[in-house]
Amino acid sequence: MYSIIDRQEMAKGDIVSITVEAPEIAAKIHPGQFVVLRINETGERLPLTVAYKNRAHGTITIFFQVVGKTTAMLSSLKIGDAIKDLVGPLGVREKFEKIGIIVGIGGGSGIAVLHHLLEGYAEAGNNLIGIIGAREKEMLILEDEMRRLCQRLVVTTDDGSYGQHGLVTDALQQLVEEQVAIDLVVAVGPLPMMRAVCKMTRIYQIHTLVSLNPIMIDATGMCGGCRVNIGGDKKFACVHGPHFDGHKVDFDELIQRNNMYTRDEKTSLLSSIKAG
Ligand code: NAD
Repeated sequence: MYSIIDRQEMAKGDIVSITVEAPEIAAKIHPGQFVVLRINETGERLPLTVAYKNRAHGTITIFFQVVGKTTAMLSSLKIGDAIKDLVGPLGVREKFEKIGIIVGIGGGSGIAVLHHLLEGYAEAGNNLIGIIGAREKEMLILEDEMRRLCQRLVVTTDDGSYGQHGLVTDALQQLVEEQVAIDLVVAVGPLPMMRAVCKMTRIYQIHTLVSLNPIMIDATGMCGGCRVNIGGDKKFACVHGPHFDGHKVDFDELIQRNNMYTRDEKTSLLSSIKAG
């Protein structure tokens, strides 16, 4: 069993963080890797990316958004409760090299994953520019932490309630127009955001890394749910990823399949609410 030692409501939109005692995982995990948890004996497997680790305290912190029955159950757990199973670290370990100027783009709850990845790039000595976006001010997470990590940070909100009015791609367009010599873009967020970022960076021939966590289901490579077309090759996000060259990802196919699961998640959440 893995005890929950902290739980916080991070933002409007049911974005929650939990910190769990898991010393063996905390000792081994690297930025961008993920864990799979099962709340109880009969629970479904839930792959979630780790946002922070604290090796000294032997803890990991996971951010998630309540979208279905299992995330609703996870959100209902309190400090002192425990999670039955936690497996990890999973996913390919990213190589963090000194590349130059890296623009990290995070949308919504994807900012948590981006922050951990950027820690890896910061340790390798890169110059970081962050762009983080949310629909509205109350939905923005980790602004202070991103500001500490990045030499420059642009915040956007879709409704203009905070920071720059617009989408994260508008802020990226401005950097390009300023002729910032971007060596790499790292984008983490909803699939339409990552698709829009890649569409833009392809034009400017900027290498772009994306994180395909949201499409994972059982995270063993067995279910095939996270099958993704990478430059014509079939890959599984859970075992071959979760990070891929964004210019090779077939986002249209991915978004179509992911929408199918979104409908199922909503149905199962509604039926669990009705069942009390
Ligand atoms: P959202 O829909 O509110 O979007 C967040 C921001 O992304 C927006 O404010 C906007 O700036 C940008 N954006 C969204 N769509 C865009 C588009 N078409 N073009 C340009 N920019 C766009 O995001 P949310 O509701 O918080 O959803 C978070 C999503 O992130 C979930 O779908 C979740 O599955 C996903 N997620 C991804 C990862 C990952 O590793 N990739 C990790 C955690 C969460």
